Amino acid sequence: MITLTIDNKTVEVVKGSTVLEAAKKLKIDIPTLCYDSRMKPHGACRLCIVEIEGMRRPVTSCTTPAEQGMAVTTTSAHLERLRKTTVELLLSDHPNDCMVCIRAGSCTLQELAYKYGIRENRFGGAMRDHNRVDENPFIMREQNKCVLCGLCVRVCEEVQGVSAIGYAGRGFEAKICSPFEHDLNCEFCGQCVSVCPTGALSAKMWAGHPRHEGVELTETTCTYCGCGCNITLHSLGNEITRVSSRTDNHNRGWLCVKGRFGYEFINSEDRLTTPLIRREKGGALEPASWEEAISLVVDKFSAIKEKHGADALGGLASARCTNEENYMFQKLFRSAIGTNNVDHCARY
Ligand code: SF4
Ligand code: SF4
Ligand code: SF4
Repeated sequence: MITLTIDNKTVEVVKGSTVLEAAKKLKIDIPTLCYDSRMKPHGACRLCIVEIEGMRRPVTSCTTPAEQGMAVTTTSAHLERLRKTTVELLLSDHPNDCMVCIRAGSCTLQELAYKYGIRENRFGGAMRDHNRVDENPFIMREQNKCVLCGLCVRVCEEVQGVSAIGYAGRGFEAKICSPFEHDLNCEFCGQCVSVCPTGALSAKMWAGHPRHEGVELTETTCTYCGCGCNITLHSLGNEITRVSSRTDNHNRGWLCVKGRFGYEFINSEDRLTTPLIRREKGGALEPASWEEAISLVVDKFSAIKEKHGADALGGLASARCTNEENYMFQKLFRSAIGTNNVDHCARY
């Protein structure tokens, strides 16, 4: 362990921690755009600068290792002026789009502009024109809103292991894109959307839905597979409008394409709402009551068991069910029907 002081408060941290991590331990808020504790530090946005006694100029706290006896200052008139100028420069060629932006209200850049009271662009000059229509099915990319924090590139490489996107161009021409600027063609896990601090990345499915007003958040579990990721459902009335995931749960906010984007079936008119029975061989499936459907299954199972024995029957359980439901399922086959022919799609 090492001990240092930040804003005159003493803190003890594990050797190897960064100054930003030490400040977080003291619950000192340092603004960032490119930092995410789930990924390696990058030092791109220059907002987390701090003053360290004995150093001639401010340094980025996310990439500077904390050292024994260090004396750090996180807020001063000089630091705040530098931070404000950095945000002003980012906004100087950012579209003034907040009124119709999907991310308004959950955009770190917007929060910083509010914090520093930035109303006008005092730099002027050229605006970037990187936007292009991307025909991919899930992710909306508005590259003119990108602040080049690199979070999307890093999450795709470090977390997802896909590296579907990267940097292209230099200086004013720098942008994030897929190889040869083809349409995005990847796993569509949406991790990049979840970490983007601006409106540069969002989901096509979110468009046109209310962003905050009347939206209810419900914590639940994804039922698509046995990983059981924690998800937050955003709903308006009976309609699910978005899925997100908190970072303080076992899946750390990461989801796959099914968990993040596979929610439209919930409100689909094609969903079955009643059991269907084919009453005549070759006939159409017809709606039936649960009692009728269950009686039919019992009759068919009983007939098979009587004629061929219990081992002629077998059951495949589902990872989409709860542990309790799967327990009941194997109990039905072992105790009621009398066979151990029970398996599970996620057994391997
Ligand atoms: S959706 Fe997933 S795989 Fe595709 S670019 Fe984003 S992080 Fe990479
Ligand atoms: S698209 Fe978003 S996450 Fe990616 S670099 Fe730009 S601002 Fe950062
Ligand atoms: S989000 Fe994906 S990995 Fe997680 S439980 Fe759902 S289907 Fe499984």
